[in-house]
Amino acid sequence: MAAAPPPLGTLDVAIIPVLSDNYIWLLREPASGRTAAVDPALAPPVIAELEKRGWGELHYILNTHHHLDHTSGNLDLKKAFPGLKVVGPRADHRRIPGIDVQLGDGDAWQFGGLEMRVFDTPGHTRGHIALWFPRAEALFPGDTLFSIGCGMLFEGDPKTMWGSLSKLASLPKETRVYCAHEYTASNANFAAGINPANTALLERKARVEEARARGEPTLPSLLGDELAVNPFLRPHDPEIRAAVGLPPGAADWEVFGAVRRAKDGPRGRFMLAFYAVWDRLPAPLGRAIAALF
Ligand SMILES: [Zn+2]
Repeated sequence: MAAAPPPLGTLDVAIIPVLSDNYIWLLREPASGRTAAVDPALAPPVIAELEKRGWGELHYILNTHHHLDHTSGNLDLKKAFPGLKVVGPRADHRRIPGIDVQLGDGDAWQFGGLEMRVFDTPGHTRGHIALWFPRAEALFPGDTLFSIGCGMLFEGDPKTMWGSLSKLASLPKETRVYCAHEYTASNANFAAGINPANTALLERKARVEEARARGEPTLPSLLGDELAVNPFLRPHDPEIRAAVGLPPGAADWEVFGAVRRAKDGPRGRFMLAFYAVWDRLPAPLGRAIAALF
């Protein structure tokens, strides 16, 4: 007797840790056997994981934004899999190596039997997109939303980024959030400093520390949990408003911006200033400098 077909909405997800703190998410839609790598910084670990799992070839790369730690594997993977298509942000297509399919806000794209929806989420970069699989209850927010954190505002202002985060925050609470970096422990330390009365946050912080002590990833997280513990999604919280010195009447995006600046600190401000100069360099020179780091 043939095996029962996989249930509708199933998405197999494998986690591939690379570099110091990046995750590449490797996806397979089991009904069609289609595969995709989300934000591959490198090609060899993706190829090794496909072989280990017996998932065959890679059909797609899904890029959320142009940063090198999300796109540097694109061209090598295209060489390894000649039929591979790179799917990425229309608004940033010139900065996505090898892009074939350009998507933007409100677009739907078919990954085998699963529909993927696209949100423009500018702020971390101008052309950033987030990828949502509604039936699989899975969100790939790239560097827009982290667990207990959010991306730095390299190419956008707080109002823009708050608009992007608000789109993601309105998705169903059962949504699993597959962030692109393992920053959760340091994010939890910062969050506990400005929101110490949040017991859900303190409980999550303890679980995160236990997971990291065991060498385990803290992701994916649940969107419902993020809404309860992530200070970047909680500008309405009076304790957070007071911690960043803003009155009850301040706009949510203003509170968000103040929380972001507090998290940046001196090191973050240096990175933002450095990035602003780097961003204006001709692309080949910028890539050469980035390769030094
Ligand atoms: Zn980035």
